[in-house]
Order: sequence, then structure tokens, then C-alpha cells
Amino acid sequence: MKAKLPDYTNLNRTALRSGFFLSDAELIAAGFIFVIKTNLSLMVQVVSNILSLLYPDVCPACGQLLLEDEKIVCLSCHILMPRTGYEQFADNPVARMFWGKIPLNAVSARFFFAKKGRIQHLIHELKYKSNREAGLYLGKEIAAGIQSSTFYQGIDYLIPVPLHPKRIKVRGYNQSEVLAQGIQSLLAVPLSTNHLIRSVATETQTKKSREARWKNVKDIFVLNEPGSLAGKHVLLIDDVITTGSTIEACAAVLATAPGVKISVAAAACPTN
Ligand SMILES: [Zn+2]
Repeated sequence: MKAKLPDYTNLNRTALRSGFFLSDAELIAAGFIFVIKTNLSLMVQVVSNILSLLYPDVCPACGQLLLEDEKIVCLSCHILMPRTGYEQFADNPVARMFWGKIPLNAVSARFFFAKKGRIQHLIHELKYKSNREAGLYLGKEIAAGIQSSTFYQGIDYLIPVPLHPKRIKVRGYNQSEVLAQGIQSLLAVPLSTNHLIRSVATETQTKKSREARWKNVKDIFVLNEPGSLAGKHVLLIDDVITTGSTIEACAAVLATAPGVKISVAAAACPTN
């Protein structure tokens, strides 16, 4: 039996050229979709341009407008950030805070934290303005510092200082975990939020004395499956090291894993 040939008389020439046989209705529909799609992307572009005029991207560290090729922070801030260089020295002032208290392999903070300084602004953005990008930037900076340090080689796990679930709910994330994600983007080491957990909510640390802070954080961290960290090198990650009491409490719990090696990296420490 002979196959019936299609009737070419009612077909659009464009459709014929493209090798498809579409009815007029289908062509009209396709035309509509094309027009809507083109206009939509144009509208998105226009809206984004208007938004960037109303709310231009600014550097969270200095408040200056970002240039088109500047990402997260401006070039000037990136260059002038107050880096400590502590990751290269085993006996740096942050590491000394823990001497005689808890054995740590290496301790450092990437930046100096000064009131109203660039780093304070960046950390404020991360903690109170939902600016995860600021945290990823700081995390990458921590990674850049420890990558070239002999003390931080062979890390098996990145472990952020845990935040109580209630705080995570308010903030939307754990800021130390965002720092860890920034570190992970350069170091490609597993990130664990299951080993070290926080069991009880603590009051805010900022206005407490050193002793009060220690009482506040002691015994609130719990280690799950300590055996799985046996003989591993873990990197404990925090945003700012001030008195060191939170790190000390976390490290004390981590140290219950047999033969574990604990290193600490923070985004910042106070200037002095
Ligand atoms: Zn800036």
C-alpha cells in the first residue's frame, strides 16, 4: 500500500525550511512563546538594572560601590584586609591562649578584628544581615592562609563550632558552617556537622566575663561517634576567637576521640 504524502499547500515556508511540519495554530503558539520569552528576559534585565540603580552592590567591608568585575568585596578592601599571618607561626598570640589548657595542633585567626573596621563589617554582614557571601569570602581567605602552612596539612574533617538549632532558625544558617563551606570550596575536605553538636541554648556571650563565659559553654557540646574520629586530623572552625572559651569547650569534647589531632582556624581575633 502506498503511503499518503502530506498536503504541502497549507504549510508555512519557515516550517518547511526547518524540516518540521507544523500547523498554523502551532506556529502561532510558538510565536507567542518566543515573544513572551524574549520580553520576559528583557523585563528581568530591566528590573535587575532598576534594582541595581536603587540598591547597587556595595562592598560590605567599606560600603563603597562595587565595580562590575568586583565580587563580594572591593579590590581595595581585599588588598588592605588586616591579615595576621598567624597560620605560619605555631606560637602566635591566639595559639598561646590555649597553652596549658588543651593540646591543640595549630591555632590561628586569618584577620585582626577592630571596631568599625573592615572585618567587623564583614562579620556583621554574615551574622546579622543574611549575607552568606561574606562568610564564603572569609572561609576562602582562611583556606588560603592554612593551605600554605605546614601545620595544617592532612586535614580529614572540617568541623564548624555548632550553633543551637533555635539560633539557626533565627539566622537561617550557622555562620561557622558557612565559613567551613568557603574553606571546603578550596580544600575539598569533608565537612561534618554530625560529630560535634550543641545540646543546650546559651545566653549571648558578648557581655560576659571570661569566667562566666566558660561556665556558660562548658558541658554544652556533645560528640557523636567519637570512634569515627579516632586518629583523624580535624579542623575546628569559628568566626571570632575572643576569650577562646567556646573553642576550649569544643576541643575538650573532640579530644575524647582516641588519637585525634585538633587544629583550629577562625576568621578573626581582636587586635592587640
Ligand atoms: Zn571595600
